[in-house]
Amino acid sequence: MLEIFALRKYLTIRLTFLIAILLFFTNLSFGGNGDNLNNTSDSVGNFQVAEWKSDRKSAFSFSFDDSFISQFENIRPILNQFGFRGTFYVLPLFLTEELPGIWRYGTWPMFEAMALEGHEIGSHSMTHPHLPELETGDTLTEGTISYELYWSRQLIRQRITTQACITFAYPYAEHNEIVDSIASLYYESARGVTGEPNPPSITGMQWYSLNAIETIFDEPRNTPEDDLDELEFIKNLIDSSIIKGDWSIFLAHESVPYDSLAGLIAAGAWNPLSNQWLQALCEWVYNRTENNEIWVAPVGFVTRYVKERDSYTYNLLMADEDQIKLNVTDNLDDEIFNYPLTSFITVPADWNFVLMLQGDRIDTLTAFNKDSSRVVMAEVIPDGGILSLYKMNITSVENDGNKIPDEFILYQNYPNPFNPSTNIRYAVSSRQFISIRVYDVLGNEVAALVNEEKQPGIYEVEFNTSRNNVISSGVYFYQLRAGNQIITKKMLLVR
Ligand SMILES: [Zn+2]
Repeated sequence: MLEIFALRKYLTIRLTFLIAILLFFTNLSFGGNGDNLNNTSDSVGNFQVAEWKSDRKSAFSFSFDDSFISQFENIRPILNQFGFRGTFYVLPLFLTEELPGIWRYGTWPMFEAMALEGHEIGSHSMTHPHLPELETGDTLTEGTISYELYWSRQLIRQRITTQACITFAYPYAEHNEIVDSIASLYYESARGVTGEPNPPSITGMQWYSLNAIETIFDEPRNTPEDDLDELEFIKNLIDSSIIKGDWSIFLAHESVPYDSLAGLIAAGAWNPLSNQWLQALCEWVYNRTENNEIWVAPVGFVTRYVKERDSYTYNLLMADEDQIKLNVTDNLDDEIFNYPLTSFITVPADWNFVLMLQGDRIDTLTAFNKDSSRVVMAEVIPDGGILSLYKMNITSVENDGNKIPDEFILYQNYPNPFNPSTNIRYAVSSRQFISIRVYDVLGNEVAALVNEEKQPGIYEVEFNTSRNNVISSGVYFYQLRAGNQIITKKMLLVR
C-alpha cells in the first residue's frame, strides 16, 4: 500500500533519472559532421504526416447542441468512461450561474467543468435564431447575424479561458452563403446537419458547411429494442466512413435513462437518446478505436489537425548517422494551431531506439520498417521548435568497458483505456532478471505477467482480464523491476 502512495514522488525521481541516462547514452554533439552525410541515404529526414491522428483510418466526433443539463449529468459521464471528448455547442444567454435556471438548460459551471476535462465548448449562437432570416448587421447591433456569431464567441471565451472557442453550429442547421461568410470571420469551422460524413480534405468555404449525422428515432419507442435499428444505421454509416477514410460527426441533444424517455418526449424534447443507447454506441466506437480504425476527437481538434496537416512544410536542417534536425511550420496562427501532427520521419537503417526533443517535450520512440523505409512515428507540433531526433545506443552498453548501470524502457500500455486486454511493451538493454506485475490502487497484486531472465531486446506481454471476473473498472499500475531498479506506469480498465 505504502508503495503506491509514494508513487507520485517516486515516479518524478525515476523520470528525471531516466532522462539523464537517456541523454548520457545519446550523442548530443550539435556541431554535426559533414562526412557522416555520405553514410546516410537521401531519404533520411524525410517527413510525412499521417492523414489522421495516430495513423487511424478515419475520424469521428461526438457533438451535442443547446447546452442542456442532461449533457452534463448523463452524456458527460458516459463519454468520460471511454476517454472520449465531445464538442458541446452552447447558447451563452441560456446558461445561468446555478440551478434552478431556465428549464432543462445547464449552467456555466457545468460547461466549465467539462472544458477542464478536455471537452470542447463551441458556440451555437446567442439566442438560437433562424440565422438566414436576420439582417447581416454588425457586432454591436442586437438581433443581427454578426451580433449572434460574434458575441456568443466572446462570452464563451470569457468563461472558458482554457480554450479559444473556434467552432460553431448553426441553429436549426440553417445557413446560407451570407451566414457562412460571417461565420468565417470568427470561427475555424461551422457545422450543419446533412447526414453525410465529411471528406478527409476540406478547403475554403467548405469549412463552414461541415456535415453531421443526427439520429432520428422512429416511433414507437416503447422498449430499448425499438431503438436498435437506429443504432445499426449509425454503425453502418461509421463503417462506410472508415472504408473511405472520412470524418463523421455525430449530433444529438439530450440523453436520459430509458425510463425517463417517454416523459421527456411528451415535454417536447427533440429526438433524445437513451443513456443505454449512447452507452452501446460508445462501446462499439471504442472497439473500433482499439483496432486503429477510428480517431475520436472534438470537432475543433479535428479542424486544427486537418488545417495543419494540409498546410505544413518542413525543412531538413541536418542529418547524420546519429541525429536528425527538422523545422516544421504551418504558417497558421500558433495560438490556435499548435496541435501535434502524427508524423513519420525516415531514420537511418540501423536506428532502433530514438530520443525525440521538441521545445520542452521529450519522448522515446522505437524505429520500425514501413514501406521499405526505416521510420519513427512522432507527435510533432508545427512551429513548436526545432525537432531533434537522436539515435540511442542502448544495445552498445554491454560493450562499454566501464561499469554502467543496466537500463530498460517501460512503454505506455496500448490500448489505454482497455477492455478486456492490453499490451505492455518493454525494452531490455542487457541480460537481466525482469519482473512485471500489476497492482490495483490499494497496492494489491492483481497479476504477475513476467518473471524470468531476458536477453537484450524489445518484448511485449499481454494483460488479459477476460478470465478474471473479480477485477473491476478503474486505475491499475504495472510495474517493471530489474535488479534494484523499478518503473511504474498507470493504465485504465473500462468495463
Ligand atoms: Zn440547436
